Amino acid sequence: MPKAQETVLEIDLGALAHNYRTIRAKIPKDVKFMAVIKAYAYGNDSVSVAQKLQELGADYFAVAYIQEGVRLREAGISIPIMIFHPQKENFGQLIDHRLEPSLYSEKLLKEFTAFAEEKKQKDYPVHVKFNTGMNRLGFTEKEVESIFGIFSKTSAIKLQSAFSHLAASEDWKERDFTLGQISNFRKIAARLLEEFNYEPLLHICNTSAIFNYPEAAFSMVRSGIGLYGFGNDKEIDKHLKPVGTLKTLISQIQQLEPGDTVGYNRTYKAERPSKIATLPLGYADGIHRKYGNDKIGVFVNEQYAPIVGNVCMDIIMIDVTDIDCKEGDEVVIFGGPQHATKFAEAGDTISYELITGVSQRVTRKIISE
Ligand SMILES: *Cc1c(COP(=O)(O)O)cnc(C)c1O
Repeated sequence: MPKAQETVLEIDLGALAHNYRTIRAKIPKDVKFMAVIKAYAYGNDSVSVAQKLQELGADYFAVAYIQEGVRLREAGISIPIMIFHPQKENFGQLIDHRLEPSLYSEKLLKEFTAFAEEKKQKDYPVHVKFNTGMNRLGFTEKEVESIFGIFSKTSAIKLQSAFSHLAASEDWKERDFTLGQISNFRKIAARLLEEFNYEPLLHICNTSAIFNYPEAAFSMVRSGIGLYGFGNDKEIDKHLKPVGTLKTLISQIQQLEPGDTVGYNRTYKAERPSKIATLPLGYADGIHRKYGNDKIGVFVNEQYAPIVGNVCMDIIMIDVTDIDCKEGDEVVIFGGPQHATKFAEAGDTISYELITGVSQRVTRKIISE
């Protein structure tokens, strides 16, 4: 592999394909696969990830906002795209790009229906979201009848799917709660069938639920984090391959005498003659100040080097006193020898936040299969 010339996020499409196939194999063949590629495919690269997943046979994509969907359509993505959190100001763009809204309240459902009618749509596919305990977005079971009331009075929209989201599918201590959410959703599904006389697609599983509650796959599953190589569980992680590797290089090496200090506010003080290497990335790139002051390290020539001093906006310093290295050598922040989950934990966060936080100024480098 060529050496990094700057800070890069390498995106391994072979690992993505491996994860897709691994997760796919967990669900029955006739269950559809919705790949969640919001937030630049969790900080990776939305277009190349989407192209690869489309080629692999994903049935559906999901993103959070309309603008994310527009970008995918402009890049030639043709499979259905659901928008988790549409805003009515952009309904025009949504229809122009044939993006499918998730409608989570009576107000939004009525607004979209009126808009679709005005735009002379026929059977425009929409998704209805139910709240089964997350208490974030969604209708409740009691509202099924009034939802049907709206659908029955128009031919502009069609109920393509009904779904809900689990609050704690990775947490075994919350198993009873999760089973309660699933059974609540089963009741909703049964009520929908009674009212609508056909079964829309039904889905509640995210990545952890695909592994932990495979009996709840219904007719579609939604997977995000697993595609990028993380399963919220060490056992599941074993079967997945992290897609992103954040790499940089050593800009400069400083020789320190005992008593010399490093960086802003002098929080690190050398106890012995030390070698400190400077890296070109910082908290503006998503490596927050929490990772500074020896909370975690990085890998230089396969050896662990702790982050010393405060993380700066564009620079991080590491202690390489015991490592054979020179300016220009490659450094791995996460990926490869360093699991992103472990790195994230050192900053009191989760893989999702770490990987989605890699700034857009970091070059994405696509490694094809
Ligand atoms: C982000 C998101 C997902 C994906 O969850 P993962 O844990 O990343 O698999 C699924 N459903 C909804 C509603 C989401 O917002």
